[in-house]
Amino acid sequence: MRHLFPHQEKALRLLLERARRGSRRPVVQLPTGAGKTRLAAEIIQRARAKGKRVMFVVPRLSLIDQTVESFATDGINDVGVIQADHPLTNPDMPVQVASVKTLDRRKDWPPVDLIIVDECHEMFRAFLKRIAGDELKGVMVIGLSASPWARGMARHYDDLIICATTAEMIEAGRLSKFRVFAPDHPDLSGVGTDQKGDYNEKQLAKAMDKPKLVADIVTTWLRMGEGRPTLAFCVDRAHAKHVQAQFEAAQIPCGYVDAYTSADERKIVRDKVHSGEYKVVANVSCLTTGVDWDIRCIIDARPTRSEMLLVQMYGRGFRTAEGKEDCLILDHADNYKRHGFVTDIHHDRLDDGVRKAAPKRTKPLPKECPKCSHIRPAKLKECPACGYVPEGIHSGVESEDGSLFEVTRGNSKKKEGPAHHTRIGSSWIHNSEFYAMLKTWASRRKYKPKWADNCYYSVHKKWPNQYVNVPPKELTREMHNWCLADQIRRAKSFAKSRHQHGDGARNARR
Ligand SMILES: [Zn+2]
Repeated sequence: MRHLFPHQEKALRLLLERARRGSRRPVVQLPTGAGKTRLAAEIIQRARAKGKRVMFVVPRLSLIDQTVESFATDGINDVGVIQADHPLTNPDMPVQVASVKTLDRRKDWPPVDLIIVDECHEMFRAFLKRIAGDELKGVMVIGLSASPWARGMARHYDDLIICATTAEMIEAGRLSKFRVFAPDHPDLSGVGTDQKGDYNEKQLAKAMDKPKLVADIVTTWLRMGEGRPTLAFCVDRAHAKHVQAQFEAAQIPCGYVDAYTSADERKIVRDKVHSGEYKVVANVSCLTTGVDWDIRCIIDARPTRSEMLLVQMYGRGFRTAEGKEDCLILDHADNYKRHGFVTDIHHDRLDDGVRKAAPKRTKPLPKECPKCSHIRPAKLKECPACGYVPEGIHSGVESEDGSLFEVTRGNSKKKEGPAHHTRIGSSWIHNSEFYAMLKTWASRRKYKPKWADNCYYSVHKKWPNQYVNVPPKELTREMHNWCLADQIRRAKSFAKSRHQHGDGARNARR
């Protein structure tokens, strides 16, 4: 039996309190990775202790087995499954697990005292209609969600219990910290909206699935991704396939998952991520993927107006793990401009469905560093990632009244990097080492010896004269990725110039 965390205890206490005050349809908001299934198991056990029968409802068939497994870990074994031909079918069991779709098709539901609805923000219409009927009026229905902000939720549920926010969970060290970079700014000028108020998917795919944007995803990851296990969110299947192909072309093994990927295949993909065989998995906002994976970098190539989608996507990277310092978010979608930081998103009540003007932001939108694309809180003047301070502005933090006060942070020059060093990925290496590794790369790729000199010159605008005698050195992983990214960059600019000059006959090899 696993123990409960304070925020889970708080959720249980609040649930009891609200139920005593008459709530029959409360929603519990709990961030992804905060132990939602564990909380559900505890609620079920307490209900069972009073002899009550419980039904746990999942949004998709594919989630049934993992839910049953997870309950078993918590000692709940008297479980039956409502699903045609499922080996665990047993209507006599006091705990039933079912998918929304199956329930919609069944006329008779087993008699229950408590229903728990997972991912209740998905607003299953037929299900909601049924629980509003006389038959189930007395039954307690508890909704669970990390983002209970769907339109009109207040018409079906009567209370919102926020037991912990993502920011609080990060503060407490139960979810991982994160850093955001915005390496790309896609042009969405021709993209309209759909019925739900999000971008029209077809038009969005057209805007995002462009060779340059797809190539940038890969070069950015090579430059900044530090080889982390990564989940890439794409617009549609073709887009995700293109991202996968581009990674593979750069010799980065990349998996692929969409809504049609079976549970067994997903497990294989997950194992390959955990063993390091796959560095990246491209997927189509397929939110059942990666729930329990050790993901340390999110590539966001899916612009969205939906706060719910954003929270669900980024939440995949916030699980803590051994040796994991933070989650890196590479925002290729400009989502930070729409939503700010994911931790800024907050609503203290359920939406009543009445259309109102866009709520005023309580926090100013974060800002992008023009030098390294790091996204920082608006009031920070100095970039925490590279130390850049916009010209004419003192390093420091803006005070409430808008004036500046200096913040001493030691030698700010140090952020520029030590003298005679080159920045490769997240670290600085000595220029001699940089040149030594370029030599190895050149010989391995069978480039002319002059290549290393040219490459060095293109970075430093100086020739590596004093290092000509350094022996070649084995490449570090970061240097290897840097070279790959550099190669792609050059190949692209070469292809572009060739295209512009109409010179198609030349060999593309350097
Ligand atoms: Zn910066």
